Amino acid sequence: MLARELGVAPGRAARRVRRIDEVAVGPSALGADARAALAAVCAMRDDHAVRVLHAAGKGYPDLVRLRAGDARSAPDAVVLPAGHDEVRAVLDVCARHGVAVVPFGGGTSVVGGVEPLRGPHRAVVSLDLGQLAGGIDVDERSRTATVDAGLPLPALEAALAGRGLTLGHVPQSFEYATVGGCVATRSAGQASSGYGRIDDLVLGVRLAAPAGDLDLPAMPASAAGPDLRELVVGSEGTLGVITRVTLQLAARPAVCADEGVVFGSFAEGMEAFRALAQAGALPEVARLSDEEETRVQLALAGGGPAGALAGGYLRLRGVAGGAMAILGWEGEREDVRRRRRHAAALLRRHGAVRLGPAPGRAWRRGRFRGPYLRDELLDRGVLVETLETAAPWSRLPRLYRAVGDALRGALGRAIVMCHVSHVYVTGASLYVTFLAAARPGEELAQWRAAKAAASEAIVAAGGTISHHHGVGRDHAPYLRAEVGALGLAALRAAKAELDPAGIMNPGKLLVA
Ligand SMILES: Cc1cc2nc3c(=O)[nH]c(=O)nc-3n(C[C@H](O)[C@H](O)[C@H](O)COP(=O)(O)OP(=O)(O)OC[C@H]3O[C@@H](n4cnc5c(N)ncnc54)[C@H](O)[C@@H]3O)c2cc1C
Repeated sequence: MLARELGVAPGRAARRVRRIDEVAVGPSALGADARAALAAVCAMRDDHAVRVLHAAGKGYPDLVRLRAGDARSAPDAVVLPAGHDEVRAVLDVCARHGVAVVPFGGGTSVVGGVEPLRGPHRAVVSLDLGQLAGGIDVDERSRTATVDAGLPLPALEAALAGRGLTLGHVPQSFEYATVGGCVATRSAGQASSGYGRIDDLVLGVRLAAPAGDLDLPAMPASAAGPDLRELVVGSEGTLGVITRVTLQLAARPAVCADEGVVFGSFAEGMEAFRALAQAGALPEVARLSDEEETRVQLALAGGGPAGALAGGYLRLRGVAGGAMAILGWEGEREDVRRRRRHAAALLRRHGAVRLGPAPGRAWRRGRFRGPYLRDELLDRGVLVETLETAAPWSRLPRLYRAVGDALRGALGRAIVMCHVSHVYVTGASLYVTFLAAARPGEELAQWRAAKAAASEAIVAAGGTISHHHGVGRDHAPYLRAEVGALGLAALRAAKAELDPAGIMNPGKLLVA
């Protein structure tokens, strides 16, 4: 299919390094004084492997560079503080010695957020939060958990499971993402329509900033002036290091019931999702693929009898070439039954054809597997990348068309597909996946052109430059269009107060 549609030579394997020791890093620029001072306050490593592993996140350009054996962007060293006080000591040393600090949680950023840029500083260290993952303090009565920021999401869920509780935050990067990384990027989990985004769940935070500690206690609600938590949530390591977070929990669901439905078109599906959101009838998971993504999904499912059967059934019901949706219901049995009944009436009114539980089950089984396909696709010479945005319902159709047109214009022969996966009363997100034949040796320039075209289209069509991946390095030039010059200046003023030497994550979020 890729050979036919993109012109990728079948079976062609792109060249890549096979072992980590084939990846080149430059010499460490960390001075002897700074190195000794850092080693005196916490664990530190500057061997080849650890520097390569902290050289990049997981975006397409990151993968392209690492697979080509290029980790010249590697940090000069990696520090591994074991608690808040060690983080504070690291920041003091770095501020004194002119060393930039890049917080590193799970390293799953897809917007260049963990790229170890030096900015104007002599050296740069990656601050790995992996040792800050011990403390989980659950307050069952208030239904909150206060946890170390380096805690991986699976470890948190495992600890909560025994108490019948859940955070309900499951981004597709769940296997690796940390609590602090999610808070620092305002991430959205796959069940955000039910449990809320991470920014809805953060009640309190502790930030070690170069200028001092910002301790914002957990409150159910507060009218004590502007909410400073909101300054920390989404700060992407540019203001300081989040070391501890208090989160709102939910009861662990007794039932997870998934189902598939098909609409005549993506536009009809979007109208149905709007109706569900505005009637308070959304399931926890609500994902609607456009016609192109539905076609590709059926093709992936498809050579076998199940795919043929599904295709035949859709033709029979008059929705062949339509848009498939996955609805995932979580909660108490009776509550789920009641909510599904309410939603079913609305879905019928919007022409939804029900496919039963199989597509939903298949989605849940494979929901973390998709990204691993990227490696295989890169091996075959395919450019594959994703991006996301959001807008109010009234602007969403135009935004959808604008982004698709921009990507097809920049890439030429391409598969551009989209889904809605985070739905609100006032609007929804769009998540776009695009594939094209990679131009050997020019992969980064090709990606840059496509990314710029899509970002400019998003800004022009009134979408947000990021609904959940964050700003990082890649979206920083577009933040001004969204918050204005005064907004940027206000953020810079906050940074100047908390990080006077500008050592925290240079080149991210606030560059334009
Ligand atoms: C395959 C894949 C699927 C993904 N799916 C989703 C998804 O469904 N939803 C979603 O929202 N995102 C998704 N992402 C993006 C990414 O996983 C999320 O943004 C996640 O929140 C990052 O967590 P992390 O621990 O890996 O953070 P990192 O990547 O390590 O860091 C992200 C940013 O936060 C900063 N940071 C990290 N920890 C701290 C801290 N303790 N204090 C201060 N700053 C810190 C870093 O410096 C960096 O700027 C996906 C990424 C991949 C690769």
